[in-house]
Amino acid sequence: MTAALMQRADQVMAATYQRFAVAFEKGQGSQLWDTEGRSYTDFVAGIAVCNLGHAHARISAAVTRQVETLLHVSNLYYTLPQVDLATWLVSNSFADRVFFGNSGAEANEAAIKLARKYFNDRGEADRYRIITMERSFHGRTLATLSATGQEKIKKGFDPVLQGFDFVPFNDIEALRARIGPATCAVMLEPIQGEGGVRCPDDNYLNTVRQICDDTGALLIFDEIQTGMGRTGKLFAYQHFGIEPDIMTLAKALANGLPIGAMLARESISAAFGPGAHASTFGGTPIVTAAALEVCNILTDDGVIEKGRAAGAYFKEQLRALKDRHAVIEDVRGRGLLLGMKLKIDGAPIVKQCMQAGFLINCIQDRILRFIPPLVITQEEIDRLIACLENIFAEM
Ligand SMILES: *Cc1c(COP(=O)(O)O)cnc(C)c1O
Repeated sequence: MTAALMQRADQVMAATYQRFAVAFEKGQGSQLWDTEGRSYTDFVAGIAVCNLGHAHARISAAVTRQVETLLHVSNLYYTLPQVDLATWLVSNSFADRVFFGNSGAEANEAAIKLARKYFNDRGEADRYRIITMERSFHGRTLATLSATGQEKIKKGFDPVLQGFDFVPFNDIEALRARIGPATCAVMLEPIQGEGGVRCPDDNYLNTVRQICDDTGALLIFDEIQTGMGRTGKLFAYQHFGIEPDIMTLAKALANGLPIGAMLARESISAAFGPGAHASTFGGTPIVTAAALEVCNILTDDGVIEKGRAAGAYFKEQLRALKDRHAVIEDVRGRGLLLGMKLKIDGAPIVKQCMQAGFLINCIQDRILRFIPPLVITQEEIDRLIACLENIFAEM
């Protein structure tokens, strides 16, 4: 079955994805089943998307209710779930206004456009440059790959969009040297995800905030991966006692349905007047109904707190593994966004874990990333740790 499906896919699909030889059929909580009936514990969660696990009964019910009521009307009109979701996001964040799109890249596109438009409206059309970080990841559209600080993402797509400057993450002096009168914004992930689960140094983000205040540049946080409880708080910025001016969300916002959101303070959002930006499917009833239920579950069921505790336990276990195995160079991350840097390639380990019934992910060749649903249990973590222990012991 899997082999036949792979063969068919090879004939008809663009070959953009390097895939594993497995096809999934169903899920429940942190478990997945493939078409051969094998089960896996999921430490990837659709790349930090399914924070509430698979087939969550309340999300399924919310989606089913909406499917049977109304799918789409267009943003020419109001709909209830969209306004309810925006109300929830505004009540639970620094932001005053929300724009909905369909993906992370679209949320970042909106943020880039808003930052430029904000200064343009103030008669500062020359103030359009955005500073982003080396090893960042902001998406695959032309604007967002241009904002991304990784050459491999841009290769072959020149000329990329102009107006981005890059500095190393965690390097305050480089930021001070680069920021200038043409800088409209500094855009970064509070914890770099795809770039290798890289955490900010103490005080780094606070100093970035201060530099933005001093120069008048806007601060944009890309919380597409870190948001919705992933790092142990609803949004990662809440760990640091500061607030951005603009924030983007996507991945876990609707637990698997396609949605992106760009949140901003009132004074900045004012630059997005009628006709300034739009999206046909942005905030359509079905995805916003799902996202609203996700938001309610996150707060009703103490999921974020449980995820934070699971993350602390998991990190401790990974650190203990590091003490026993010299091949592990570093363990890092926050909440349930955890990384383990190896001195060797991680791909064979991902494969061995898969054979043992665990999905994990490898980024930047040597970094294993663990991003399970926030509902992962201690027992499930223990089983993965035992599996990794065996793999490292046999090396
Ligand atoms: C995944 C991701 C994106 C891109 O989101 P898409 O939905 O794939 O467009 C942007 N920024 C960060 C930090 C991400 O993790």
